[in-house]
Amino acid sequence: MVRSVSVGILLSVLLSLASCRSKVQATVSKPLITAFAAGAVLEEKVLSKPDTNQLTPDERKVIMLQMTGSHPYWRQEKAIHYDVRKPNFVIIHHTAQDSVAQTIKTFQIPRTKVSSHYVIGRNGEIIQMLNDYIRSWHAGVAKWGTITDMNSCSIGIELDNNGREPFPDAQINSLITVLDTLKARYLIPNSNFIGHADIAPARKNDPSVFFPWKKLASKGFGIWYDEGQLVAPPENFNPIDALKVIGYDTSNLKAAIVAFKRKFIIRDTTPELTVYDKSVLYNIYQKY
Ligand SMILES: [Zn+2]
Repeated sequence: MVRSVSVGILLSVLLSLASCRSKVQATVSKPLITAFAAGAVLEEKVLSKPDTNQLTPDERKVIMLQMTGSHPYWRQEKAIHYDVRKPNFVIIHHTAQDSVAQTIKTFQIPRTKVSSHYVIGRNGEIIQMLNDYIRSWHAGVAKWGTITDMNSCSIGIELDNNGREPFPDAQINSLITVLDTLKARYLIPNSNFIGHADIAPARKNDPSVFFPWKKLASKGFGIWYDEGQLVAPPENFNPIDALKVIGYDTSNLKAAIVAFKRKFIIRDTTPELTVYDKSVLYNIYQKY
């Protein structure tokens, strides 16, 4: 019963979040009791379905809750001060597809197991596909600094773009609107607006060299270097350590260098750091 109660409470919280109502019920209310009952019934139903692809969205939530952190065999006491964990990073992607419709479809096919919170069209249309508090499956195997579960702490934004074309102004302006909202709502630091290739350099190359990181940084989303103020780094400067301090996983050093250069050097993405590249890296490193 203990597990069912916690599933019921969590379900109530998540259902109110998923329905985009802004406030979680402050007191135990009728909807909570109803949700508890519904949660118990759904839990029974879900247990009898071995194939998760056949589950309804509500049943999926129950599965999700079953896999979350209640340990029914340990003593349970209630704490009264809490809220829901919030995102602290935003990961920007390009879809590598040809249309918003194609991307939405991809995110709705059970076998793909991928999703993102937002999709932004070339024309600037903003589509939200998951509540900000839900863990989307956009990062995959990734690492930034010491964080290895980027899906748990981030919001994923997919820009409709095939990877070989510039991003139209309408799309970037809508992106800035979304980023502004997320930054204000969740107090996300400038340096935590990053790209998929930053956190998975050996696997991913998005967003492409066409993505306007400099413009984004000027608006407070991401970090850019001080152009015109670059100096040669000191003798003892270690570029690998600098990449690590910024956040890059350097276990595949060449991939990390390419990711860094795709973002900051742009015109040259060879896997070696030139004297100029090192001065850019040194400048950025000093901001962390
Ligand atoms: Zn991506």
